[in-house]
Amino acid sequence: MTDRASTTLQDRIRGVAVGAAIGDALGMPLEFRRATPNEQLVRDLLPGRLPAGSFTDDTEMALALAESLLARKPLNPDDLAQRFVQWYRQGPPDVGLYTSSVLSRIAAGVSWDQSANEAQQQRPESAGNGSLMRNWPVALAHWKNPIECLADSVLQSRVTHAHSECTAACAFESAMILSLLKGETTADALNQARLQVALPPGLAAFVDEAPHRKREELRNSGWVRHTLESAIWALLTTSSFEEAAIQAANLGADADTSATVLGAMAGAAYGLSGIPQRWVNMLRGEWPLGSGKILVADDFITLAEKLSGLTV
Ligand SMILES: [Mg+2]
Repeated sequence: MTDRASTTLQDRIRGVAVGAAIGDALGMPLEFRRATPNEQLVRDLLPGRLPAGSFTDDTEMALALAESLLARKPLNPDDLAQRFVQWYRQGPPDVGLYTSSVLSRIAAGVSWDQSANEAQQQRPESAGNGSLMRNWPVALAHWKNPIECLADSVLQSRVTHAHSECTAACAFESAMILSLLKGETTADALNQARLQVALPPGLAAFVDEAPHRKREELRNSGWVRHTLESAIWALLTTSSFEEAAIQAANLGADADTSATVLGAMAGAAYGLSGIPQRWVNMLRGEWPLGSGKILVADDFITLAEKLSGLTV
């Protein structure tokens, strides 16, 4: 188990970016599958639709958000929407249905807010995890300023996912990451986030029950309630990055997204030094799509330092 007291802020900031991308890569081959039986848990980055170690749309959209925040801070939603559309036009191997319905409207020239509102009006009950999965760069860009952090978490969600549970879930993840970066325990970070972020009652019930759930009770669907529930459950019921990520990814279903959200939070809790080196060595993915350029873990470290303003 990592000695959390000796984990530095810089190590934790690096851990958020690398941890999120590694969670994505660990969950990638387990997406759409049933939960893995307890005695057969997948503990390595395996090949799936993509080569072993590859990240997916969760991380690609986070990279677009990160680059937008590096160009414009506080967040400029028009700039972010255009970066999402650039990515979308490259034909990503994965893109969520709801995200696709919004981005295709924006690509056709409709404003981001009208596009997001039209999609929401067509499917008023839809509250997917497509904005939560990409949210972590906001926490790194605003780790010194909780007010701006929560505002930009909500705003980045609204560009595609305007539902109140989606925007609240993003603010909640950011609040958890900020507390964990300060070295608070996972239980204290959860309590702090509950005090700092107003959650709609339906989402609040899932968050409050999450640490008490049994593995077999978790559905881990693309519903934002299920994703946040799984990530909090995995973080609060384990004591290392490795075990937490294995638990989140082996839930199957929307495995890459639950493990991405968990990975950002567990990366803040345990730092880059708490992430197994065998996973760090395998992380890879093309960015920008179509460029032929392959990002590896060192690129995520550099990105985390640029976003946070913390350099060696
Ligand atoms: Mg994905």
